[in-house]
Order: sequence, then structure tokens, then C-alpha cells
Amino acid sequence: MEQNLLQECIHCGLCLSSCPTYLVLGKEADSPRGRLALMKAIEDDQLQGDNTGAFAHLDICLGCLACQTSCPSGVQYGHLLEATRGYQYVNDRQLFGLQKPLLKIIASPTYLRWLSRLARALQLIRLDRLLIRLPILPRPVRSQLAGLPKIPPQPFTRTAPSDFPSAAPDGQRRGRVALFTGCVMDHWYGTVHAATVRVLRWNGYDVVLPVDNHCCGALHSHAGDHDTADVLLKNSAKVFDQIEADAIIINSAGCGYQLAEKQWHCATGAPVIDICVWMAANLHHPPQTRLGQRITYDAPCHLFHGQGITREPLQLLDAACQNMLPAPEAEVCCGSAGIYSITQGHMSQQILDRKIDNIMSVEPRMLATANPGCHLQLQAGLRLRGANVDVRHVVEVLDLAYQQDDSYRRTFGIV
Ligand code: SF4
Ligand code: SF4
Repeated sequence: MEQNLLQECIHCGLCLSSCPTYLVLGKEADSPRGRLALMKAIEDDQLQGDNTGAFAHLDICLGCLACQTSCPSGVQYGHLLEATRGYQYVNDRQLFGLQKPLLKIIASPTYLRWLSRLARALQLIRLDRLLIRLPILPRPVRSQLAGLPKIPPQPFTRTAPSDFPSAAPDGQRRGRVALFTGCVMDHWYGTVHAATVRVLRWNGYDVVLPVDNHCCGALHSHAGDHDTADVLLKNSAKVFDQIEADAIIINSAGCGYQLAEKQWHCATGAPVIDICVWMAANLHHPPQTRLGQRITYDAPCHLFHGQGITREPLQLLDAACQNMLPAPEAEVCCGSAGIYSITQGHMSQQILDRKIDNIMSVEPRMLATANPGCHLQLQAGLRLRGANVDVRHVVEVLDLAYQQDDSYRRTFGIV
């Protein structure tokens, strides 16, 4: 592991109040400082080979990186956590519980397609609604079902053209960008991709969609399976090596963090840029009319803490909405953390309950976020609470504001 980096913690405790698991459990071992001490004990072999107890506290860490943002000493907690999990994966045990099948499904387009078909079939015959209501399944599984969007028959890239021309109202073409379509985003959140493409085109950009791009391996990296993550990253690089574009646009905070953390790049050298950052800098045609609904924003951890992207989503939401309402603890994790919401379901639900209380305190009609895991988790929490709040990606909110304009709807054939 990383002895030098571990020594940077001065044990001040300033990170404790930002840690969701410490806020719920109130125990030192479930705080960032406690976990860093456990990592050091593992590194120094102070536990004499029996790391089981220490790993239980590390397993329950969300990897949300809130502690990293609040640390005055610049401790690279995320890097240390991934290194520890990599050590654990190689030396102690590989994956636990449902981690192995879930990560296998996510890594494979075929398995993910089958899972999506199963979820779609449940939705079509409305069996999902029954399963959500009846307490036959554990609450974390019912919660996942409740949060799912309406699953489309095909992934977005299977039904959309691979090249879209710019469609700016002033007729100006400002460049060409490629979209990193991903795995879950492509299979389940095609509506976010569609909104992303429309907003980019309206602002003067040609958009190219890669054929056969899949997972970036973010969830595999978080679980310590760096070998699988490396293979997936290399596969993605090969796809984008073939595409000439000014930038690669990404609309999933978790994937964006993974690509930044792994210093991923393709042969063309096109930079990877989050859609919020790109649009905040390139909003050539802001919406003419802003939405009137009450809306709040919940910051995805891997956008806010992981990539330091804090202002841009709010700038876009300000351009799209009149009624922005800041909710308490909007920068605290929602408990999704990839597959954590299933593998650590009990803790995830406790964190989600607190999050939904905070969101509902401002009585929004819409909630904006920018990551598929958060999108699903937050929608689940709101639906299970009986709250009529629509969860949308920031770029979907921008698209909805544009849709108030007849010429935008006509251009993109929206009825
Ligand atoms: S990453 Fe999040 S859950 Fe883990 S120690 Fe840091 S603040 Fe706590
Ligand atoms: S991680 Fe940073 S904030 Fe937390 S105890 Fe260590 S030095 Fe202090």
C-alpha cells in the first residue's frame, strides 16, 4: 500500500462530521480517521494477518470522498481506499456476497442486456409494483426496483444514429464532440443521453456516438478488482481511438471520476469533460424561458468531491429554472455508491432516509442530479416515501427548459 500517503493524516478529526457512516453510527472505526488507522494497521501487519474485523469497517465505507474535501492536510483518502481494497482483493479475499455476480453483469453487455430485459418484463406486467409493495424481498432490493427508470427495449446506442449534425438556431457549427455512452447509462438512461445530444446540438455541436463502447470499470475499481477495470478501460480507449472529436463528453459523474483518476486517454488526445462543465462554458443559446417548478439539486459525490465540479451544475440549473431551492446536506452521499446500495443495503437505506428528509424539507417538485446511481437511489427513496418528486439529470432539466420553445421541439421532433 502507500505508507507515505497514510502518514499524512494528522488525526485532527475535521473530516468526521462530513462522513455519512460516522453520522449514522457515531463510531471512530467507521469514520475516515478510524479507517485510515485501520489501513495503517493492515499495512504494518499489526493485526497479525487477521484483517477480517478491519475490513468490515472498510467495507462499510461508501468511497464518497467527502472526507477528502474536508481534510486540511490533503490526505488522498480515495486513492488509499482503492489501494487497500486492491490489497484485500489480492491477499485476503476477492469479492464478497453479491459483488461478484453484480460486477460480472455490469462488465458484460450481454448479461446487462438480459438483466434489462428481465427488469423491463417486470415493469410491463406491473409485477415490479407488487414486488415493491410486498415485503417478500429485502428492502434494498425493493428499493432498487422502485428507483428504476422505465427500461427501454434497447440501449440508446442501438436505436440512435451514430452521428448527429449540429442544429443551432443561428445555424453556426461550433465543433464536434463524442459521447461516452457507458453501460448502465446506455441501457437504462437513454433519455439522459437523448437530452444530452439535443442540448449539445442546439448549442452548435455535432455529436458522434461510439459503436460498442461499454463499461469504464468504475465499480470494479471501487471493489479492488483493478485487473478487470484495466481491461474495460483499455477496451473503451480502443473505441475512442477511432473517433475524431474536440472532446469526449461524459454525463455520469462516477464514470467521469474513474476516467480522471485512472488518467484515461485515447490516441486522439481528446479531453474527457463532464457535460455540466462543457455546457456551462458553451451555453451559446441559453433557454429563453426558465422552468417555474420548485427544484433542488443533490450533488453526486464523484462530481462534487471526486472531481471538484461544484459551480457548473448550479450555473446550468440557474439558466434553466426560476425556483432553485438549496436543500440541507446536498453534498452528503445519498447511500448509492454503485453496488453499495445492494451489498451494504441496511446502511445504504439509513443514509438514504436522512437524505430524503433533507430533500423533502424544501418541498421540491423536481430534483436534479448527475449520476445514474444517485438518480436511481434518490428516485427510489422519494417513491417509497410517496413523494411526487421527479428526479432528473441536470442536462435533462436544461432540455426541459428548452422544450418550452416551439422551434426547439420542432427541430428535434418532440410532440
Ligand atoms: S469516503 Fe465517505 S464514507 Fe468513506 S470515510 Fe470518507 S466520508 Fe466516510
Ligand atoms: S483525514 Fe484529514 S481531516 Fe481526517 S483526521 Fe486525518 S488529517 Fe484530519
